Amino acid sequence: MQRHWLVTLQNLAVTGRQWDTDVPMALLKDQSIGSVQASSDLVADVHWRVALERAGHIFRLTGLWHGLIRRQCSRCNAPFDWQAEGKTEREFQLGDGQGVNTDNGCEHLIAPGEINLLDILREDIWLAWKSDVICSDSCLGLCQGCGVDLNRETCQCEKDDSNHPFAALRSLKLSD
Ligand SMILES: [Zn+2]
Ligand SMILES: [Zn+2]
Repeated sequence: MQRHWLVTLQNLAVTGRQWDTDVPMALLKDQSIGSVQASSDLVADVHWRVALERAGHIFRLTGLWHGLIRRQCSRCNAPFDWQAEGKTEREFQLGDGQGVNTDNGCEHLIAPGEINLLDILREDIWLAWKSDVICSDSCLGLCQGCGVDLNRETCQCEKDDSNHPFAALRSLKLSD
């Protein structure tokens, strides 16, 4: 099944190739395939819509992917499945390995030019990594005072918010 993800550029049909597929998480995590380490926290297959086409001497790989990665919310610390997504944008050129010029961002490969799509997707997933992720836009986070998760519990801290315009309203609510 490994061969399935290897593409030889020199053999590419004039019409190019397109994929619209769920790349199995198990394959992405399998360290016996390819050389780029996959995110060990992937929790689902990664959907990838990607096309490889040839324009003159340039082979262009472009697409979009999305997947789920188990992360910890940076506001409330709870684990959640982060919806990661990103682009694939690569250019390759075949050469003999001499006088390699990468100024144009093009990767030079020795003919026949074999690329491993799993490694490319793994790299793209790393590139989309963000250090701060939140479980939801409406996540309330942890109380600065007592540390309770405000999404789950009502904080018991005695806050001195008597100057707050809604303080009176709040005490009304609590007395219900
Ligand atoms: Zn959160
Ligand atoms: Zn509190």
